[in-house]
Amino acid sequence: MAGTWIEVDLDAVVRNYQEVVKHLRSGARCMAVVKADAYGLGAIEVARALERAGCEAFAVTRVEEGLILREYGIRGIILVLGPTTKQEWPRAIAAQLQLTLSELSWIAELNESYSELGCPMPVQVHLKLETGMGRTGFRFSELEQLAISLTKAPQIDVQGVYTHFARAAQRDQRYTLEQYERFSAATIRLEELGICPTWKHVCNSAAFLDYPQWHHDFVRIGTLLIGHYPGQGFSGRLTLSDPWVARSQIVHLRKVPKGTNVGYQSIYRTKSETQLAVIPVGYADGFGLEPHFTPQGWIDFLKIVIKNLAALIGVFLGQERVELKGRSVRVAGKIGMQLTVLDVGMQDCALGDEVVIPLRRTVANPRISRKYIQGGQILSERILEEGISLVSTEYSVVEEFTGEGCR
Ligand SMILES: *Cc1c(COP(=O)(O)O)cnc(C)c1O
Repeated sequence: MAGTWIEVDLDAVVRNYQEVVKHLRSGARCMAVVKADAYGLGAIEVARALERAGCEAFAVTRVEEGLILREYGIRGIILVLGPTTKQEWPRAIAAQLQLTLSELSWIAELNESYSELGCPMPVQVHLKLETGMGRTGFRFSELEQLAISLTKAPQIDVQGVYTHFARAAQRDQRYTLEQYERFSAATIRLEELGICPTWKHVCNSAAFLDYPQWHHDFVRIGTLLIGHYPGQGFSGRLTLSDPWVARSQIVHLRKVPKGTNVGYQSIYRTKSETQLAVIPVGYADGFGLEPHFTPQGWIDFLKIVIKNLAALIGVFLGQERVELKGRSVRVAGKIGMQLTVLDVGMQDCALGDEVVIPLRRTVANPRISRKYIQGGQILSERILEEGISLVSTEYSVVEEFTGEGCR
């Protein structure tokens, strides 16, 4: 999309990775979670930069995401965290993705799929244990059956066992401690049943910071790598760099008199003579979108009420602001689908001037081009054509992955 782009500083991502590594317990490694296109930064470039920096393991949610990483040359461990389907297994196995096993019924089928492929090595899986997330994984009561099924599935090699915390970023840690207790009890039970996975891993970014004693063999880190803390209480715990800047250029600029209505529903009216500038970005690009916000307490609840009451009488609190030449300027009126109006006052500015926009990483439209910066230079650019397929200036599909596996 001309006029709007995102700069991703890969050096910053690498610095964040190194910062995580510096704080790891000895023996533990960092598994970089690059799901959802590396939280919007771009999974291929982020994983490549991290692999160059020594990262040996990656995690994604879906098989498709893992296959893309392999196709673009990632050689390390790739763990698929989410549930998978039988249709995806042959390709996942051929690309040596490690799969999460979270359903008893898959075991026999996975074993069979694998035997049919005639691979020399077993398929590597990680057992997912359900300890309080309420999403996927084996419950304690299923462990016995799990062990029985696994003994009948010689093609399945249990590499890892893990769980995922639901409230690790919250102040009250009781739930997290309970989850960890359940995880420990389950792994002990598995050992009694003769299942001893090579690796254990439980920590996401928040638990990594709070519980060094739980680092085990891997920590699964996403949020910290992209330069964010998992919650307010964690600020300053590491030295993080922000790899992300979203920019847009003024594509229309006009001087208007006092009392000019701006945008849908005319919720904004200029208070004096001013200049209105249009930038080519809107909510279809993710601008101004916030995730659904659930109040965590009475103060949060009051904030929401006040904000809504104010909006009812035409006062918009927390209106988005952007930065123009180091100055904060406000968005005038509602953010449109692909265009946004700024009230830039009478300051000196011109068509083509750049503004820095606050754009949430995970909802930033993939169509906005990403410029990847390393060593202060643009290393590559990713452009998705409007509704068509991926084109890129730099990517070329590397030779097929040739590990020990089979195809
Ligand atoms: C997303 C995810 C992570 C990473 O969590 P962050 O808090 O972003 O570091 C770890 N584990 C699982 C299973 C996840 O889905």
